[in-house]
Amino acid sequence: MAERCITGAVDIGGTKIAVGVIDVRGHVLDRRESPTCPTEGFDAAMERVCGMLEDVARGVGVELCGIGIGCTGPVDPIHGVIGEVNFLPGWKGCNPVEWLAQRFAVATAMENDADAAVLAESRCGAGRGKDSIICVTVGTGIGGGIVLNGSLYRGVAGTHPEIGHHVIDRAGPLCFCGAHGCWEVLARGPAMVERMRSRMPPGSGARQGLTAKTICELARAGDAVASAEVVREGHYLGIGIANLVTLFAPQVITLGGSVMNAADLFMPEILATVRRHCGLVDWQRTTITPASLGRDTPLIGAGMVWRHRFEGAEARC
Ligand SMILES: [Zn+2]
Repeated sequence: MAERCITGAVDIGGTKIAVGVIDVRGHVLDRRESPTCPTEGFDAAMERVCGMLEDVARGVGVELCGIGIGCTGPVDPIHGVIGEVNFLPGWKGCNPVEWLAQRFAVATAMENDADAAVLAESRCGAGRGKDSIICVTVGTGIGGGIVLNGSLYRGVAGTHPEIGHHVIDRAGPLCFCGAHGCWEVLARGPAMVERMRSRMPPGSGARQGLTAKTICELARAGDAVASAEVVREGHYLGIGIANLVTLFAPQVITLGGSVMNAADLFMPEILATVRRHCGLVDWQRTTITPASLGRDTPLIGAGMVWRHRFEGAEARC
């Protein structure tokens, strides 16, 4: 593929849509953003996406050789159709792949945003040059994507595996997924807040406005309750990660998302838990590391969705 091949990248989220142009090495050459405004309808959003894509391509002075899309899931990646997404009411069944392929007359592909993120890390980030990588995102929920043998892992009929919803404590709280004590319900950012609140005196002013971020700040300042919560969160994160190590023994696991902005606080307990739990696999050979691409991950991922689909597993940054 020619060095000049530039890909259009579209990241569709519930609150904003980002658009960019990406070179073969995964560099974001230019980008635009607009609110998603899902209630204005899918066609209106696509018109905005087209305007932004034309604008960035013109600005960089290139013809797009293809377009990749990462979309908040679930999506049908094979047919390019958006599924039942809470944040995109009324968009179920809409097809951004067909829409953009027709408008720009180029090959277009879509994956859900977790799969786009793992393609970004596997090709341009912490998993570069590796064949097996799991990319975990911890924020208001826990999601992830899996690359095995250099290819995106898909379940039956293109199903995205929901690694955030495997059960780690059957006595835990009920999750919307139907399970008690799944990884997400115990280790997502808001779970830290709920546990911390339950340990503070009723009526305490400090209970208000508490977030995962403020708990981490309190822990850094030496607050004992917050420090204990950080250890507890690290333990829950560690159980899930240990399970991934035992199940897949991947070369790399990356940890991203808002909670992982404080990865240094959680890492000691995560690694201690992996050490205790993973007696049957060579866990020392799995690199467990913070995600490496930061805020550009969704756009780089969208660009890599196109490369992965149309250039194959061998193509790297
Ligand atoms: Zn769940």
